Amino acid sequence: MPDPGTSLGHIFTPIEIGGLRLPHRIAMGSMHLCMEGREDAGGRLAAFYRERAEGGAGLIVTGGWAVSAAGAADNSYGILHSTDRGRPLARPAGQRTTALGQIAASTAGTEASIALQLFHAGRYALADSPGEVVAPSAIASRVSRVEPRALGEEEVWEVVAEFAAGAALAKELGFAGVEVMGSEGYLVDQFLSPMTNRRDDSWGGDADRRMRFGVEVATAVREAVGEGFPVLFRMTGAELMPESRPWEEVEAFAAALVEAGVDALNIGVGWHESPVPTVQGAVPQGAFLPWAARLGRVVEVPVVAGNRVNRLETAEEIFATEGVDMVSMSRPFLADPRLIERGRQGRSVNVCISCDQACIDRSIVGEHVSCLVNPRSGHEFDFPVGARTKKRFVVIGGGPAGLEAARALATLGGEVRLYEERDELGGQFRWARQVPGKEDYGATISYFESELRRLGVHLHLGQAVGEDDADLLAGCAGVVLATGVHPRTVEIPGASLPHVVDYAGAFEAGLGDARTVAIVGGGGIGVDLAHLLTHEPDDLFARYGVELPGAVPFGPHRTNRNSGRGRGRAVTVMRRSGRIGSGIGRTTRWVWLDALRHGGVRTLTGLSYRRITPEGIEIELEDGGIETIAAERVVIAAGQERRDELRPLLERLEVPHRVVGGALNPSELNAVRAFGDGLRAAYALVG
Ligand code: SF4
Repeated sequence: MPDPGTSLGHIFTPIEIGGLRLPHRIAMGSMHLCMEGREDAGGRLAAFYRERAEGGAGLIVTGGWAVSAAGAADNSYGILHSTDRGRPLARPAGQRTTALGQIAASTAGTEASIALQLFHAGRYALADSPGEVVAPSAIASRVSRVEPRALGEEEVWEVVAEFAAGAALAKELGFAGVEVMGSEGYLVDQFLSPMTNRRDDSWGGDADRRMRFGVEVATAVREAVGEGFPVLFRMTGAELMPESRPWEEVEAFAAALVEAGVDALNIGVGWHESPVPTVQGAVPQGAFLPWAARLGRVVEVPVVAGNRVNRLETAEEIFATEGVDMVSMSRPFLADPRLIERGRQGRSVNVCISCDQACIDRSIVGEHVSCLVNPRSGHEFDFPVGARTKKRFVVIGGGPAGLEAARALATLGGEVRLYEERDELGGQFRWARQVPGKEDYGATISYFESELRRLGVHLHLGQAVGEDDADLLAGCAGVVLATGVHPRTVEIPGASLPHVVDYAGAFEAGLGDARTVAIVGGGGIGVDLAHLLTHEPDDLFARYGVELPGAVPFGPHRTNRNSGRGRGRAVTVMRRSGRIGSGIGRTTRWVWLDALRHGGVRTLTGLSYRRITPEGIEIELEDGGIETIAAERVVIAAGQERRDELRPLLERLEVPHRVVGGALNPSELNAVRAFGDGLRAAYALVG
């Protein structure tokens, strides 16, 4: 029964998958955390999953575990079996089996159930993959650029057997189910698509034979685990590739999987090399629901929708659509391990802001995954929770670093006072939330404010701390100096003219009705500002040439990317050297640059600034040419300088302190580091 008093009644309606009862309809989707290949993977991952299980998660799907060394995308993957082809499959080493057993047991005593994801990267395996890179055909991907070896006809059966053996092992070790990873362009997709499967044997040549590998995997996995053990299959609803398969093939594959004994279909969207954004903040929430909903109407088993669903309220709305039985949310469980519990209780949630910076951007290069807004995520071992002090701490500054420091100090039992000179918390997040696609940054501020109040932190807004406040600081157990940055001034003649403003002023007061704007500085802030100034709401699918399922096959080549619209403003972003937006994460930068192109923003690099005039800004290009960029307003977004004026006072007082975020290092201003600094400072001061 839905919990009384909540508006999330559909979510909290139990459901069964393959005989497994789940307490609600949110699945914690698979995430590769890049811990799976570590020697201490068992304890770390068990702690990670345990915390989510205790926070109310229902079905948890682990990150992908490679069914063989060849199936691992890189060295950060856990491997279920040895790869010695033609020989009996070797069990994983004892240490690995122990790790898997720890993970399987991590949900014990909770309402959660954990399923092991069976994974094979195929041609997405990177050069540092521990095994040979194999695929249906010898065609390299844009992701790895490694030319794979085409599997032999008999050899494909061995890969099928590896999936089956992985499933049997999962059952033996106590997992509650398995999920076959068959989407995002990995091996199953590579067999399905004529773009990557150019074979003409029993595994390729026409749609039925391309489909065969996935169906044989499903059949073999079912046989390996028997009836009554849940088997989920993550399949692609929309490839979003230039030569995507027709919808009829997608439906036929779904039906064949169900026929093979699959208990639920989890619908993925987009290959990793797709030129269509699927999970970034620019993508509307729940945008890819139609693909899952449509499949849900043609198969008899539960269908799980996902991709860019980061709020329970969005999931609840999705359940009003016929055909969807569950919603998968992955990154939101990184941002808030107690997402479900908080939702059930109507409490504020630490919302995933879809920035990708500490999760996907890291996982694609094999780096330990965490979360920007929750730096403890993935480090549960390193930062154990629990009160261990009653001392008094002061945090100066209410931006990301200060917020996280105050939160962590309070959870450790400290009596915390936070001073922020402005009337509002959030620091630079207050500006980011204005940017289209970054509106959720405002939710981070709301969450922290609510959480700090709940934890009893004394919030002193509108109160700056200065040299006269020695009494406040002396005698406390620790101070966190998180006073951030201020915009860097530039030495360009004319920079003090009245139409010149720094980026802080541009965000705070806007640029009025200026029709021409020149932005000096093409880092992340300059890109954000240009996007804010030029964005007009439009249909993302129309922009990228995506058609809804059931229509004709679509291709991103029909994208209308550079229409030069954008509020009729002419905006120019300039950078002396380097690439525009070079500090932005790999999986989001291209989306923001696409948005600038769509907004008609002109970008220039490799130049020097000569002078600012009342008419605009004069620049010298690399070839020596001089150009005047007409601009009613010129915005300086050329970096920042630290604000750490209180550091000498703290040293004089000999009070234990930590300087964090931009106040410590303005040149590498980055929110991942700022939140992480805050967390580390809190634990260091408490000791
Ligand atoms: Fe979400 Fe960003 Fe955290 Fe990833 S790093 S889980 S995208 S908030």
